[in-house]
Amino acid sequence: MMRFAYVNGRFCAHPDAAIHVEDRGFQFADAVYEVWSVRDGRLMDADGHFQRLSRSLAELRIPEPRSRPALERIIRELLRRNRVSNGLVYLQISRGQARRDHAFPKQAITPTIVLTCKRLDFAAADRRAETGIGVITVPDQRWARCDIKTVNLLPNVLAKQAAYEAGAAEAWQVDADGYVTEGSSTNAWIVTKAGKLLTRQADNGILHGITRARILDCAQRLGLEIEERAFTPAEALDAREAFLTSATSFVTPVVSIDGKTVANGAPGSLARALRETYLAEA
Ligand code: PMP
Repeated sequence: MMRFAYVNGRFCAHPDAAIHVEDRGFQFADAVYEVWSVRDGRLMDADGHFQRLSRSLAELRIPEPRSRPALERIIRELLRRNRVSNGLVYLQISRGQARRDHAFPKQAITPTIVLTCKRLDFAAADRRAETGIGVITVPDQRWARCDIKTVNLLPNVLAKQAAYEAGAAEAWQVDADGYVTEGSSTNAWIVTKAGKLLTRQADNGILHGITRARILDCAQRLGLEIEERAFTPAEALDAREAFLTSATSFVTPVVSIDGKTVANGAPGSLARALRETYLAEA
C-alpha cells in the first residue's frame, strides 16, 4: 500500500518525502517533535500533546508554523490517506533551512514541518503488558533540558540500543546522584512495599510525559498514595511493582531490572488497574 507523508504544506509519497541538507533539524537537532497514539481513528490525549508542542516551540523560540486546527486537519487527512486508525502520528518542526551557522539565522526563516503516521499493533502491546518487560540501567548522558521534546535523541538512541543488546526492552537512565530519571522513551514508576506510587518530579531532568500526567490523575481518582520524587534502582528492586508509561505503550509493567527480578517477577496489580483505567477513559 502507498504510504504518504506531509512535508512543508504538501502530501507526498513516503519514499519521496525529503527535507534540505541544510535544514537545522538535520544539522543541529534544532527541532522539536510530538507523538500521538491513534486509537479507533482518534488522537489520544490530544490536548496535552498539542500544549506540550507549543511549549517546546516557545522554549526554543521557533514560531508556530500552523494553528492547532490546521494541524488537526492535516493529521486527519494524513490518517485517511494512510488508512491508519490504530497507530501513531509523528510530527516534527525544525527552525527551518539556512546556511549552516550555529546561531539562529539573522533573517526570519520558515520552520520546516514534517508529519508521518504508521500502524501499531496494540494487541502486541497488550500481550507485553500481560507478561511485563525487563529494563537495564544506564548512566544518563543527556543535557540539562530534557523537559523540552527536541529531536536531540542520541543518548536515548544509545540507551535503547544497549537495552536491546542486553535482551531488555528499555533502559532506565540514572543521574549523577544515583537516581532514575526516566527511560529512553518512557517515564519510570514504582510502587513501594508500603503501597506508595512514586515517579520522578517533573523537573528539567525528564520529559513531562503526557501519559505520566494522565496516570497521576487516574491514580488520584483510584485513591492511591502518590509522591513525585526521584527513586534509586535499589529502591526499584525493593519495590512491590515497577512500570513505565508512554503515549504508545500506555502502562507497561517492569518485571526485571538489570536481570534481577522485581517482587515476584509478575506484573503488579496497580500497574494493571492504572492501565485499564487509562484505556477505559482514553
Ligand atoms: N520520556 C521520554 C524521554 C520520551 O521520549 C517519552 C515519549 N515521548 C516519554 C518520556 C513519555 O512521554 P509521553 O507519555 O508524552 O509519550
